[in-house]
Amino acid sequence: MLKNKAYKIWFCTGSQDLYGDECLRKVAEHSKKMVEGLNASGKLPFELVWRPTLISQASIRAEFNAANNDPEVAGVITWMHTFSPAKMWILGLQEYKKPLCHLHTQFNEEIPYDEIDMDFMNENQSAHGDREYGHIVSRMGIERKVIVGHWASERVQDSIASWMRTALGLMESSHIRVCRFGDNMNNVAVTEGDKVEAQIKFGWEIDHYNVNDLVEYVNAVSEGDVNALLDEYYSKYKIIDDGRDAAEFRKHVAVQAKQEIGMEKFLVDNDYHAFVTHFGMLGGLQQLPGLAVQRLMEKGYGFGGEGDWKTAAMVRLMKIMAEGTKDAKGTSFMEDYTYNLVPGKEGILQAHMLEVCPTVADGDISMRVCPLSMGNREDPARLVFTSKVGKGVATSLIDLGNRFRLIVNAVECKKNDKPMPKLPVGTAFWTPEPNLEVGAEAWILAGGAHHTAFSYDLTVDQMVDWAAGMGIESVVIDKDTTIRNFKNELRWNSIAFK
Ligand code: MN
Repeated sequence: MLKNKAYKIWFCTGSQDLYGDECLRKVAEHSKKMVEGLNASGKLPFELVWRPTLISQASIRAEFNAANNDPEVAGVITWMHTFSPAKMWILGLQEYKKPLCHLHTQFNEEIPYDEIDMDFMNENQSAHGDREYGHIVSRMGIERKVIVGHWASERVQDSIASWMRTALGLMESSHIRVCRFGDNMNNVAVTEGDKVEAQIKFGWEIDHYNVNDLVEYVNAVSEGDVNALLDEYYSKYKIIDDGRDAAEFRKHVAVQAKQEIGMEKFLVDNDYHAFVTHFGMLGGLQQLPGLAVQRLMEKGYGFGGEGDWKTAAMVRLMKIMAEGTKDAKGTSFMEDYTYNLVPGKEGILQAHMLEVCPTVADGDISMRVCPLSMGNREDPARLVFTSKVGKGVATSLIDLGNRFRLIVNAVECKKNDKPMPKLPVGTAFWTPEPNLEVGAEAWILAGGAHHTAFSYDLTVDQMVDWAAGMGIESVVIDKDTTIRNFKNELRWNSIAFK
């Protein structure tokens, strides 16, 4: 399993020395209590670390640079307990390079009507100080998340937890290394893109290998290792043999076991976290990697079919952002395949030739060996299942020639009306928001691909905030989308993101 780093987020409180030591003592006491309370909520994916109150340009600058230089820090949450003149913040903000959140809160939830006096007002004036601070961040054009509300409320704690995962995606994006086994499929437009620009924007390293470099690894896998993994497969998955002889079936599955071990070793040896294959460029591989790819996605690797490195990197990114989510429902590579256009039951059947991640599966996972209608290899083994119900987010990162655009669609996954016994692939079925008609029209107008990176465990807001943090355009298709407004948004964005 590819593991995330254990990051921390700093909690920095702003004030000034105008109010005297007693006030600053209380500011520190309050912010400590808030950090303790937030950590004790059990909601935050990372520890929040209390930091001493910032009251001068020098301390603010030193603090932001310390956060920059500490590899464990994934971001800073700022909050102005009192007024904190914002010119003091300019230099520190100019030098700060990591994700920034502005928690617009205050220590007390209710106005203490009986006791309130001017001392209380001066001590508890984030309504005032946070506006001064917010002004300078806006004037400087710095991207940040603003979260408003009482720090002890569940809604605010959930928002902080959610932003922490966006911060993780922003921090970890630059560590993603994509391995391309072969090139993109010929003639396909949407899976292409500018790899240099992707590295400048997202930090992704995107390399290429001849698929036969992988074949050497696959061929070197020992029979003992293959048999041990086959035992695991046979204990974990239901066998649907489709009338095949048991020994012949096992031989086909063994090819995928060998590929899983060989590919994983290749990816570990060369430090890759996402990869692509292409069914038309398999060199000495006996089968299109199917089950092998599914298992590697389950272990945390990003994947894209037909050389689609943008989607492979996005799948990896979204797996990073979702990792450790309580009761996670899964994240996968997907492809829009076939529609159900029956009125009231409209939706898109999601699948791929083989490579859908079993983390999204609902119920039993079966193993089948079936012919592939494309390519010229042996019948590949694959895992077959249907997916969970519930809300999810589908994303498509496209290259428009002069910029990247992230298309983010809220979708609702549903059960199919009937089983599909003749369809030997993992599937999901979803209706895009606001409905199929508007959702698909908006998707096509935005130039969205047929491949997506999909997750049940992330939200539209997290993906939009990630795109904003990366400095790229994003467009959302959700319950509020209307075609007229959406077309205008695309038109305006073409100027804003020129
Ligand atoms: Mn495809």
